[in-house]
Amino acid sequence: MKKKYLMALDQGTTSSRCILFDREGKICSQVHREFKQYYPQDGWVEHDATEIWASQMGVAVEAMQKCGAEAEEIAAIGITNQRETVVVWEKKTGKPIYHAIVWQCRRTADFCASLKRDGAEEMIRERTGLLADPYFSATKLAWILDHVPGARARAEKGELLFGTIDCFLIWHLTGGRVHATDPSNAARTLLFNIHTMQWDPELLRLFNIPAAVLPEVKSSSGVFGMTDPHLLGGEIPVAGVAGDQQAALFGQCCFEAGDVKNTYGTGGFLLMNTGNQPIRSTKGLLTTVGWKIGNETKYVLEGSVFMCGATIQWLRDGLKLFRHARDTEAMATSVENTAGVYLVPAFVGLGAPYWDAYARGTIQGLTRAVKPEHIVRAALEAMAYQTVDVLEAMQQDTPFPIGSVKVDGGASANNFLLAFQADVLGVEITRPACVETTALGAAYLAGLGVGFYSDLDEIRSCWNAERTFLPQMEKEKRAELLRLWHRAVERSLGWAE
Ligand code: ADP
Repeated sequence: MKKKYLMALDQGTTSSRCILFDREGKICSQVHREFKQYYPQDGWVEHDATEIWASQMGVAVEAMQKCGAEAEEIAAIGITNQRETVVVWEKKTGKPIYHAIVWQCRRTADFCASLKRDGAEEMIRERTGLLADPYFSATKLAWILDHVPGARARAEKGELLFGTIDCFLIWHLTGGRVHATDPSNAARTLLFNIHTMQWDPELLRLFNIPAAVLPEVKSSSGVFGMTDPHLLGGEIPVAGVAGDQQAALFGQCCFEAGDVKNTYGTGGFLLMNTGNQPIRSTKGLLTTVGWKIGNETKYVLEGSVFMCGATIQWLRDGLKLFRHARDTEAMATSVENTAGVYLVPAFVGLGAPYWDAYARGTIQGLTRAVKPEHIVRAALEAMAYQTVDVLEAMQQDTPFPIGSVKVDGGASANNFLLAFQADVLGVEITRPACVETTALGAAYLAGLGVGFYSDLDEIRSCWNAERTFLPQMEKEKRAELLRLWHRAVERSLGWAE
């Protein structure tokens, strides 16, 4: 039978999704299913990895049924996933020994603080490109080994396996035959040396992790293994794997050094491809692996904004200023400007380039003329200003001129936001026809991995812009808006001290 489809398994923080794409990167069918979030204590977040696996299989089968796809027609499966989340399972049964500990979980904050006190952060930074923060996997893995009775001894005997979500899915998809991950996921664990592209013995010692639990790290594109024929009605190669943000960068065809994408989701994620060299940031950005294809590794710089679309959620659910997130566009354009109002969404502190955990949200410049529309507009503008700050940091860290930024994520549907973004960045903003860039990136990696696509140029030819926003604002005006934004940011810093 003719190979027609690529299957993307997009395993996110709140839902498991499956999208079947055709060769041109068009969506043929799409199914998603939410799963349960566990909050056992303040600041703790867990998932049931077995439920994740079941939901992921469920949506895969349904997506195939929806467009009548047979296993033989699917050229390959690509996996993209919530990053850093940790699963430990039994080699014999595939059963997790504890809930998956999710990237958001802060239970290892003390461990990370002690690493900092002991002066280990520089070594971590140097080898992994990351920080000693509970966000990443290693301390969560150590926590499971130390808190589940008998786990450490069993791990040392080789009875337990560790993996990020991609790895857990690969293991189950291949009927327990393949224990592997890709470098974009490995690079988020704090155990992987991004220069040698190997698990790092010093880091394993630092976090007290037995090497026996670790998966093999394979290229992001290429056959990991064949699916168990009982699962989807036939054997399908699993041939592409990347963490969600890196997959989105790939799905946006940001293949060259200097290419940038920005995702406006709950949080904001700006990633720049920096080519074959990891670049160390002086501005608090993370250095990580984009993907490895064949023997070639692409590195990225990553800057994140904690509150992006989440500010819109707060205005909707907290302040009840409107009913639907999409209403914000009409509200923002119903007024000429923000009437001098600046909203700094430092609800949970500020990330790059400020890194102030004690910053708190502020609304500056209130007068009696201010209406809800002005505040909504200020919130959207803040999403754009925060992006400017991260991109400026990237420009200072790298030699690459930025010609354009490709965008995706839920809030990229907002035309006012993107037009304003182009204005305050002074750079062209492009929204692709397919905004499911994360799933698309996984599908592209898989397609490339089995020769469904011959090269990156063929993939590039599938990518289409839906709309481009050109900067129209005068330089002086932009400078003045940014000056006031930075004044407002200054007033938010250190507030919770
Ligand atoms: P995630 O994948 O991070 O959960 P999505 O990419 O689905 O998020 O984006 C959802 C976010 O985008 C929400 O925070 C929502 O408030 C915001 N959002 C969705 N549509 C719009 C819109 N038209 N304008 C502004 N914000 C929006």
